[in-house]
Amino acid sequence: MTEPGNKVTTRTTTARDALPTELVQQLQWLGRQPRPAAPPGAVGVLCDRVLAYAGPQHVASVLPVLRGTGSGLVVAGPRPGKPMPRAADFDYDGPIVLDPDAYGYHRATRDQPFLLPRGGFAGTNPTLDDVLDAQLRAGYAVACTPTGYIGAGDTAALLAAAQQVKALNRTDTLFVVALEVSLLDRTFFDQTRAILQDAGHPVALVLGIKQGDPLTHSKRIIPNLRLLAATVPLMPIRTDFNALDLMAHGAFAAAIGTGGSVRHAVPPPRKPMAFVRDASPSVLVPELMCWWKGSKIAMLCGAAPSRSPRCSCNVCQNQPLTRFKYKEDQPEAIAHAATAWQNIAAGMLSQATMRERAEYWRNICKGAVNEHQMLANRVRQVDPLPVQKPLEQWAELPAWRTA
Ligand SMILES: [Zn+2]
Repeated sequence: MTEPGNKVTTRTTTARDALPTELVQQLQWLGRQPRPAAPPGAVGVLCDRVLAYAGPQHVASVLPVLRGTGSGLVVAGPRPGKPMPRAADFDYDGPIVLDPDAYGYHRATRDQPFLLPRGGFAGTNPTLDDVLDAQLRAGYAVACTPTGYIGAGDTAALLAAAQQVKALNRTDTLFVVALEVSLLDRTFFDQTRAILQDAGHPVALVLGIKQGDPLTHSKRIIPNLRLLAATVPLMPIRTDFNALDLMAHGAFAAAIGTGGSVRHAVPPPRKPMAFVRDASPSVLVPELMCWWKGSKIAMLCGAAPSRSPRCSCNVCQNQPLTRFKYKEDQPEAIAHAATAWQNIAAGMLSQATMRERAEYWRNICKGAVNEHQMLANRVRQVDPLPVQKPLEQWAELPAWRTA
């Protein structure tokens, strides 16, 4: 028994962050389930899959390595007004989804939460339903809403989008929500979660930020995302290993970006790609669970490739990761990354319960944090290799929230 005095202390120190009892019970229940509930209808086909999210120029590199029942492709849509590719144009038998990527061109408002084609005569402009039907007719596994970018604090635009989606009452549609990450921070999180829950459709979530990594916006983002994944049918897309963190905490599927620009969103209008002096590809270093420029790996390992991290995936077959130096190495770097993340995901998803998934995931992250020190020792670097903040948080937070 706790003494009354202690009780008061406990309440005042934790009340701000403590979850209501019914949420705690929901988390306990979810922790015992073998997998998240599959959304009803066509979207269910995506359940427990880690898809690759690629712009059109990366599709050919990633398709050959997507395998089995655990994978799939999300392709970013063409610019507004350009013709939509058909699913049959891609040489792939798994599920293919087209993200219209409307949030790259249009900021959602209360009056126009979606980017719909215009130019027909009055009364003949396609409706939201028409746009979704067109994606299904083009052969895609499910349809994705052309939702605009939800800017900072703009819960009114989010609500307008959610209400229109709710009214559709479809089971073949993902509600694409690209939102400024501050909407998941302390001030707006409860409201954002309530709106998404009430939309009654699975949410394909994209994190947006003007600059930098959305997960480092504040320490609350990762715990809040986990709570969202446990309480809303969620599929984080256009992201990095946030995909696996959320699938360990309730997300029914996810899609990892093949390149830096498709691992989060920026508010529109999107700036043209700046000229980059360092043309080496972005390379997944599986033992560190992070992406590094090929030039950085090469520089760190110096003249001794024997010290380089190696990868045992089917693409690399134990070759050193220092080999990704030039722009022309990018296709192989993409194939390597997708192969490696599918291996990691397969291990995690084979766990018996959600809670065990979360524990497995936390162990991977802890191992990757430690590996930073081991690699520094191996390349005889005195200064520690900095660990990315989200990885540090994934490794440190309790595997499964209980209060
Ligand atoms: Zn590899």
